[in-house]
Amino acid sequence: MKYFLLVLGCQMNISDSERLDTVFSNMGMKRCENEDEADVLGVVACSVRQKAIDKVYSRIHRWNQWKQKRAIITFVTGCILPEDKKKFLKTFDLVFPASEMINLPGMIQNCGVVTPAALQSSGKQEDLWAIQPFHRSSYEAFVPIQNGCDKFCTYCAVPYTRGRELSRPSQEIIKEVKTLIQQGFKSITLLGQNVNSYGLDKKGKEMGFPELLETIGAMGGQEKNDFWLYFTSPHPRDMTRDVLETVARHPCLAKQIHLPLQSGDNEILKKMNRKHSLEDYRIIVQNIRHLIPEATLFTDIIVGFTGEEEIHFENTRRAMEEFQYNMAYIAAYSPRPGAVSAKWQDTVSMKVKKERLHILSEIFSRSAEAWNRKLKGKTVKVLVTGRSRDGKSHRALTEGKINIHFTGGENIHPGDFVPVLITGNTGISLTGEAAPNF
Ligand code: SF4
Repeated sequence: MKYFLLVLGCQMNISDSERLDTVFSNMGMKRCENEDEADVLGVVACSVRQKAIDKVYSRIHRWNQWKQKRAIITFVTGCILPEDKKKFLKTFDLVFPASEMINLPGMIQNCGVVTPAALQSSGKQEDLWAIQPFHRSSYEAFVPIQNGCDKFCTYCAVPYTRGRELSRPSQEIIKEVKTLIQQGFKSITLLGQNVNSYGLDKKGKEMGFPELLETIGAMGGQEKNDFWLYFTSPHPRDMTRDVLETVARHPCLAKQIHLPLQSGDNEILKKMNRKHSLEDYRIIVQNIRHLIPEATLFTDIIVGFTGEEEIHFENTRRAMEEFQYNMAYIAAYSPRPGAVSAKWQDTVSMKVKKERLHILSEIFSRSAEAWNRKLKGKTVKVLVTGRSRDGKSHRALTEGKINIHFTGGENIHPGDFVPVLITGNTGISLTGEAAPNF
């Protein structure tokens, strides 16, 4: 028997789907990429954007039409808002939270009966974490360390779909990371909706995020295999000096920091319920530049949030110039179903949002290029991810997650760490040649 999975949304959903693969594999089922061949068709849903939810509705509409011709079972799991859940119960055979996936064999056996798990939003998250994931990559892995969010940003529905913050036991995380290192994984990412608030829900009973990083950082010196450890997505409020000092201290903790800004204006930050000011954010950036000067800095920005006027945007524009990002994921604001701000009037036109997005993209490109130009002539370690489209060069990532295309070298495969001499840059990507040595 075969199954097909449509995985929408963020890395957390990809990580959940890797555990779902294990559950199917234990049932003797094979994953297929062609929906026509599948006996079981499922969606790992994302509620962050309406577009993703629309995709779920269009798929299930198509799959339900197929049911007249062949026997198939459909299911949906992942991030689902309560109102969508009610509708999905009428259209999918199975609706269940990701934490209930361990019960999938039984649910499939009883198919036709909607699982009671669907009616409760709280499965046991710990059961999900206990499942050994099936990694599709041989060198890159994601390790969930926390689920849910307590921050309640007004533009975001995550606290309503994933629930409140819950930290995974540190001993389980440490064991999983250690196994991955010993298996030769090179890029390991700790995942959480609010990754650096790890442990705050179990204060006094569980270690905090800096201690967890410290423990994994120490493995870098103990294990013979080389690796880079990343974490995402953090919140500026929990980006303490300890976290940065720990990253600075251990070579295996990757020198790349993602620090969502969202807006450079205090009034808008307040409206977004981010609970920090631009001044707080600036202190963190200063700490990063001081403690880890080689670290690349990534961010997320929303332009055109409800009430964002020219004067507010100007502050974001200035912040963009000031912080000199290597990568910025800039989104035009759109109300997200289930989020508090979805009830507010969307006051900025799409035309203005697009203009603002364009202005910020240009600033970010300039700062990323300026950083890249300074790397010319240096030899850096890169992680090979594949071949370029034309097959003439290798694709890779630097420790700071800058894309690089390089030529030369023999016997180079995805997942190899290779020294590369930087010869130049094309925009925000680097170019180079395989170097004999560091
Ligand atoms: S911190 Fe804000 S944006 Fe991030 S998951 Fe929590 S509510 Fe959403």
